[in-house]
Amino acid sequence: MLPSRFEYHRAGSVEEALALLGAHGDEAKVLAGGQSLIPMMKLRFAYPEHLVDVNRASGLDGLEERDGRLHIGALVRHATLVSSELIASRYPTIAAAAPQIADPLVRNLGTIGGSISHADPAGDLASVMLSLGASVVLRSSTGSREVPIGEFLVDTFTTSMTPNELLTEVSVPTPEPRSGGTYLKLERKVGDWATVGVAVSLTLRNGSVGRAGIALTGVDLTNVQATEAESSLAGAEPTDEAFAEAGRLAAAAAHPVSDVRGSAEYKRHVIEVYVRRGLAHASDTASAA
Ligand SMILES: Cc1cc2nc3c(=O)[nH]c(=O)nc-3n(C[C@H](O)[C@H](O)[C@H](O)COP(=O)(O)OP(=O)(O)OC[C@H]3O[C@@H](n4cnc5c(N)ncnc54)[C@H](O)[C@@H]3O)c2cc1C
Repeated sequence: MLPSRFEYHRAGSVEEALALLGAHGDEAKVLAGGQSLIPMMKLRFAYPEHLVDVNRASGLDGLEERDGRLHIGALVRHATLVSSELIASRYPTIAAAAPQIADPLVRNLGTIGGSISHADPAGDLASVMLSLGASVVLRSSTGSREVPIGEFLVDTFTTSMTPNELLTEVSVPTPEPRSGGTYLKLERKVGDWATVGVAVSLTLRNGSVGRAGIALTGVDLTNVQATEAESSLAGAEPTDEAFAEAGRLAAAAAHPVSDVRGSAEYKRHVIEVYVRRGLAHASDTASAA
């Protein structure tokens, strides 16, 4: 099907994009990699009257550590996360997830800003960012605000961003010493969406778990932060028993549905196993760091 009629605007700068979004409000949509928006438009699930293409707006593709944070510009492509030495050496949860997103064609175009703004509970990067305690920077022509990712993701395809705002950056705390993490994804075939995805990030302090971040993909109406599982690990010894208990608590926090990818019971079992396995791996790499 062809998309409904729309007016195309190519923003040459962030300021120009913000002015266009301010002028057209909820009749406008930002176009980033187009990997989710264009299919939605072709299916007529989305029919914006104005498309604001931000691909030529400068300053949105940075990837750098500064002031204790990793700043990832909204236009950073999944492929850039895959090839970045900084990500490979310092951010194992992102490094593990990025190559598992879709296929090379989608990864060359899809952006982190688009992935998180789209708020698809099957999206891999939102879980990664929940596990890392990241936040997003939202700008409008009247100012900017930083919102923790857990408050940004409201419901399926729904965020707390207003129509006149642009997500300009994802901001991640830099890792403490003795940190580890990973992303485990069960998919029916390479390039598929997650049947279940599990993001874990863990920091050891004096031999105990200082901080644990656990988030789940594809098993609820939003990406799930498994807060009870995280709390159960705070201050605990990093043992198999503690990780198994966290796995059980994480599985209980999810609300998977039975579908072509598997039964709800099967998905819960996978969560339990992947959380335990992911935490053990994260703990091993943290102790070796
Ligand atoms: C075949 C296929 C397989 C896929 N498999 C996976 C997968 O396994 N895992 C996964 O995580 N994803 C998967 N995706 C989705 C892919 O990662 C998309 O790239 C991503 O979800 C959207 O990013 P985008 O840059 O293409 O955004 P777009 O499609 O351009 O935009 C998506 C939405 O976000 C809004 N938006 C975009 N950027 C901004 C911004 N900076 N500020 C405010 N709003 C913005 C748009 O207006 C739109 O509503 C797949 C996509 C395809 C086509």
